[in-house]
Amino acid sequence: MASGSKCDTCDKKNSCGGSGHHENESEQERQARLRLQSRLCRIKHKIVVMSGKGGVGKSTVAVNIATSLMLAGKRVGLMDVDIHGPSIPTMLGLEEQSPLPTEDGSILPIQMGDMKVMSVGFFLRNQDEAVIWRGPMKNTAITQFLRDVEWGDLDFLIIDSPPGTGDEPLSVVQIIGSKNLDGAVIVTTPQRVASVDVRKSISFCNIVELPVLGVVENMSGFACPGCGTVTPILRSGGGKKIAQDMKVPFLGAVPIDPKVAEASDSGQAFVQHFADTATAKIMREIVKPFETM
Ligand code: ADP
Repeated sequence: MASGSKCDTCDKKNSCGGSGHHENESEQERQARLRLQSRLCRIKHKIVVMSGKGGVGKSTVAVNIATSLMLAGKRVGLMDVDIHGPSIPTMLGLEEQSPLPTEDGSILPIQMGDMKVMSVGFFLRNQDEAVIWRGPMKNTAITQFLRDVEWGDLDFLIIDSPPGTGDEPLSVVQIIGSKNLDGAVIVTTPQRVASVDVRKSISFCNIVELPVLGVVENMSGFACPGCGTVTPILRSGGGKKIAQDMKVPFLGAVPIDPKVAEASDSGQAFVQHFADTATAKIMREIVKPFETM
């Protein structure tokens, strides 16, 4: 790390990602580690969004957490490490975008308003292309996203992780270091089937010593498109109960709202595009505890 860099004065300089025991590393590895460390030092808060299973609205929640923080005046990055099913580019209408390289070999993230976005989806030749990668390749891609993307100074990096407790969340924790992550937001739906998986996600966090910032219960009731009244259609309260049982915070219950699906299908961030709806207000409440981190 160049002397006089921001890392010299950073209070996390000895604990941020890339540090540790490095006795046998080559000069090239040392440079890569210091580059990662200096990137991570410029990002104040790093939050992973996880879910026990797919289709519960994890990416939707990740997009709306990131956008809500941006609307609250924070400098935000959104990193999609859902390598086999990257949906962030579609949800934000960025499918046609390609990140550009910089002169020093970094990659410029896609700028969306005041938010910086990076996804494996930007590097696929077409939407239908499948990514067939094993663990080490995923680890390399995630390392590059953290080390080589020009994130700059951020207040928050929101990391959208694929469902489950596989390679990707583990790589994120190993590369950044659990002490340098603020924690995980776990998204679930109200039903009992989903709650079994969310317990596994919480257990994963406990094993890797990643704090659980809280549980979001998505698709919790149905918000009437006319009057906004929320009608419970599935057994609701499952997410809240798990949060209580497992002694982690409950961050909020987001109803099924056709406008949420409409926004993501048309490439708009829901909390920004439908800012005046009751559901958008619920989503923005979820990030309130983070705004004062
Ligand atoms: P996951 O990341 O868990 O696989 P997604 O965020 O991709 O799930 O959401 C799956 C689908 O459900 C998307 O079409 C999304 O627009 C829709 N969706 C998510 N949350 C809601 C909600 N609260 N109301 C209506 N549709 C939703």
